[in-house]
Amino acid sequence: MARYTGPVCRLCRREGAKLYLKGDKCYGDKCAFTKRAYAPGQHGQGRKKVSEYGLQLREKQKARRIYGILEGQFRKYFDRAERTKGITGENLLVLLERRLDNAVFRMGFAASRNQARQLVRHGLMTVNGRRVNIPSFQVRVGDVVAVHETSMESPIIKMMIETYGSKTVPAWVEDVTVTPEAVSAKVARFPSREEIDCPIVEHLIVELYSR
Ligand code: SF4
Repeated sequence: MARYTGPVCRLCRREGAKLYLKGDKCYGDKCAFTKRAYAPGQHGQGRKKVSEYGLQLREKQKARRIYGILEGQFRKYFDRAERTKGITGENLLVLLERRLDNAVFRMGFAASRNQARQLVRHGLMTVNGRRVNIPSFQVRVGDVVAVHETSMESPIIKMMIETYGSKTVPAWVEDVTVTPEAVSAKVARFPSREEIDCPIVEHLIVELYSR
């Protein structure tokens, strides 16, 4: 599946919000948005008036960029959310949270969703003991996500274990194990809207696609 490979800090500046796409750098004073909190390009500091459509579009783009998804796939998530019982906007966010790359990130096994995606793509992660290398794989309740035993010696995993410390994981994740011998966590349930700490106003996305 294709993905955006351009400069990511530019995306935060375009959306006017920190999207936390670069891991640790996002929390320091090297963050490009902290230094230049305006849109990139020659007219980035110019006119600010945004139409209703513009607001809706920006919200959708922001969500896509946070989860690292291209337009076509995002639209498919929306269609699925619409067909599911419940509130479409919330269904959409839950589907995005259930992506395997997001789950790996939320479990604290990667510094960013990009890095989590890389771990999955490179075959370092398993779900219920089976290697899964599809970042969009949807985790289910009860699934155990782990680092494959043969990948425990990988430098990126060793570094993660050393720095894991007292990372906090969301309440929908349980049984977290991070030791030099094993790294795993279980999906206890799907997150509720309140537990999804993304700065997204999902009803604007629903309005956009309902035009
Ligand atoms: Fe966004 Fe992180 Fe870059 Fe800051 S450092 S602009 S939060 S991706």
